Amino acid sequence: MVDAGDREGLYRACRLCPRECGVDRTKAKGFCGMGDTVVAARAAKHFWEEPCISGGDGRGTGAVFFSGCTLKCAFCQNMRISREGWGREISVRRLADIFKSLEDEGAHSLDLVTGTQFIPSILNALDLAKPKIPVVWNSGGYEKAETLRLLSGYVQVYLPDVKHVSARLSGLCAGAEDYFRHAKEALLEMRRQTGENVVGEDGILQRGMLVRHLILPGCTTDSIAVLSFLHDTLPDVPVSIMRQYMPVPWCRIRGLDRKITDREYERVLSAAHALGIRGYMQEKESASESFVPAFDGEGIDD
Ligand code: SF4
Repeated sequence: MVDAGDREGLYRACRLCPRECGVDRTKAKGFCGMGDTVVAARAAKHFWEEPCISGGDGRGTGAVFFSGCTLKCAFCQNMRISREGWGREISVRRLADIFKSLEDEGAHSLDLVTGTQFIPSILNALDLAKPKIPVVWNSGGYEKAETLRLLSGYVQVYLPDVKHVSARLSGLCAGAEDYFRHAKEALLEMRRQTGENVVGEDGILQRGMLVRHLILPGCTTDSIAVLSFLHDTLPDVPVSIMRQYMPVPWCRIRGLDRKITDREYERVLSAAHALGIRGYMQEKESASESFVPAFDGEGIDD
């Protein structure tokens, strides 16, 4: 366990994520492209997470989108912030104020999106803000269980992706052949921290987990492997199966240059039904760029 005074030291030989760059982020940047100052692209109410996160009453979740990424999938729609690192630098104090404002605006929860590379600063900001609403850790699932243990007591809800089982696929998409090995251990650590899901009277997840999986074109066999793993390992955790894959011009991987077909979606859904998986299935209309939030620095400026 790292006490609050030592947290910033984690940036000095950074091994926060499975990339384990070992760089001194006070002087250089590692794979995630970030130094030791928080950079964020947007902080605003967000209404398009799953109903148990955003609710349906207009309050939404208070989403903070952090810049940089430890995974950098070739097909990422948020390239501007994940790969190019666009965003505004903010102090820990300012981040705490953002958390407080989102809570004061009535958000159901704080939705911290892709924050792994800033865990020391986020913990310091949470110590200052002391939110009374659930803190949601929204990540790509490429996490070290050891690092996640730092979040114990600070995060009430985990919202990880499980992107791939196949090492070949995760290697091709993100140069991370070890993706599933780490995601598997990370999910178990998340479950250990949260215990069983607790849903409030308003339908909002107060504690627990929800796992997301995005179906990729031509990769339904791997999607079914993901669902089988979830069914065998975390049978009571709901799964959000997403069909919103949109091809992007910067992705050069053959086969990922199209949306998924109805047939592919139905194949994965039937497997989910056969396994008895419960959760959320996305409508066809969601495969649209309009569902990508505008990363324009909203809520980040002083
Ligand atoms: S958080 Fe960034 S610098 Fe640290 S190990 Fe991961 S990719 Fe490397």
